[in-house]
Amino acid sequence: MERIEAGALTALVTRLLRAKGAQEDEARDVATSLVGANLTGHDSHGVVRVPKYLSWIDDGTLRLGRDLEIVNDGGVFVVADGGHGMGQVLGRRIVDLGVGRAREHGVAITALRRSGHIGRIGEWAERAAAEGLVSIHCVNVSGSVLVAPFGAREKRFSTAPFTVGIPGKGEAPPLILDFATSLVAEGKVLNAFKGGKTLPDDCIISDRGELSSDPVDFYGPGIDGSRPSAAASSAGALVAMGLHKGSGLAFMMELLGGALTGGGVCGPEKKPVANGMLSIFLDPARLDPANDFHAEVVRFTDWVRSAQPRPGMGPVLAPGDLERGLREKHSREGVMLPPEVIDALRRLDTSSHPRAVR
Ligand code: NAD
Repeated sequence: MERIEAGALTALVTRLLRAKGAQEDEARDVATSLVGANLTGHDSHGVVRVPKYLSWIDDGTLRLGRDLEIVNDGGVFVVADGGHGMGQVLGRRIVDLGVGRAREHGVAITALRRSGHIGRIGEWAERAAAEGLVSIHCVNVSGSVLVAPFGAREKRFSTAPFTVGIPGKGEAPPLILDFATSLVAEGKVLNAFKGGKTLPDDCIISDRGELSSDPVDFYGPGIDGSRPSAAASSAGALVAMGLHKGSGLAFMMELLGGALTGGGVCGPEKKPVANGMLSIFLDPARLDPANDFHAEVVRFTDWVRSAQPRPGMGPVLAPGDLERGLREKHSREGVMLPPEVIDALRRLDTSSHPRAVR
């Protein structure tokens, strides 16, 4: 593994996007979000994605310079089309829109359709939480059929993440629950394939219908050292999280993130890869006139964290604790990445290289 300072990595990714024609702000937003995912330990949604993003810009799957196009504005709800623009830019815009509307009405719903990849959904819950708002995000990825429903060996769902954010106050940090409804995100399989962290047991179903943790059983044989063949046409499938319950949650994420936003659900036909995100924003200051919400959140979180761990387990964590700790550590010490990931970026960069700090 190679250690890279976050600022230098952000500058490198910004340069790569600028070289593809992105404006400075757009390139910087995308780079900041990708490196932000690495900082929080979600390498699956970090800079490992850059070569794919660049090729998606080339083939039109991703389009630079797009802003939200408002399709339907009902005041308390807004439907917006992302036009396959850069998801990290559209994510900022849609959250800021939802936060403004929730301030006005107490609650707000936004439906974002046809967005380019919006990365780590926790970032959007953190952005709303920083403004004092609770948020819930239901996401699908149309055109990316990767996950087998409970009991199946064939794929029917995307990794359809679900995310909830609760704002912090004073010393209390925000609480951010953020996960793919597959046992592991596809990017974690890609990361393992490229020499990163190994995968948990039985998170893949091979084309023989056997459970596995080998990325090759997912991508199929004959893959080279670069990006494996398109995941949607992969040989194997990802296992849905949480048995029948997680599979049911994935089902609903497809319908809420895909069907209700108008972005479309996964299906047998070939579609461009795009995120749909239904977001609900709630202003606790308006919903809780007694103003006890934050105190109750702190009482409950402290009580949960105080539970005695099982033998061999670390301290009990609240949602988002892990990511916050890793962000502090990686911001201080640099991000650790497989050399292959860094080398791929360096090969694409014609100017200079990120500075290794150790
Ligand atoms: P994960 O399995 O690492 O789970 C993360 C969640 O579990 C976090 O809320 C974290 O705080 C919590 N957590 C982790 N360890 C814990 C512990 N020991 N105790 C208590 N809580 C703990 O996440 P994942 O499923 O691999 O998803 C990774 C990322 O991929 C997410 O950020 C998700 O939004 C993103 N994603 C994005 C897309 C997309 O299309 N944009 C698709 C799928 C996933």
